[in-house]
Amino acid sequence: MIRKDEVQAELRELPRLFMFEPGWQIARKTDSIREYCYAMAPGADHYHRLLDGEVYLVKADEKLCLPCAGRRGLLAYDPKPLREPIAGLDLAIEAELEGFDVLVRRTEEVE
Ligand SMILES: [Zn+2]
Repeated sequence: MIRKDEVQAELRELPRLFMFEPGWQIARKTDSIREYCYAMAPGADHYHRLLDGEVYLVKADEKLCLPCAGRRGLLAYDPKPLREPIAGLDLAIEAELEGFDVLVRRTEEVE
């Protein structure tokens, strides 16, 4: 039997977060100066405050709390793949299967 506090602890477990959007930075509010998230929560009719100690995203003057940044698609729950798949690879495999010799040329410089 699962206890209620175990369920709540599981619900509070945070996922790993990733942000790949250029120009955005992670910040932490460290004062009590009144500042607001630049997005409204769903169903809300007002902008909500960022609170002391809250982690948020910032780009120039725009500030977003993490839930609003997540809704806007600025956060990801998975890392980028180590290497983007090569678009022409499928064609090379098909050509090889059909009996052609495939010559692969690298077009990008390796550092
Ligand atoms: Zn927000």
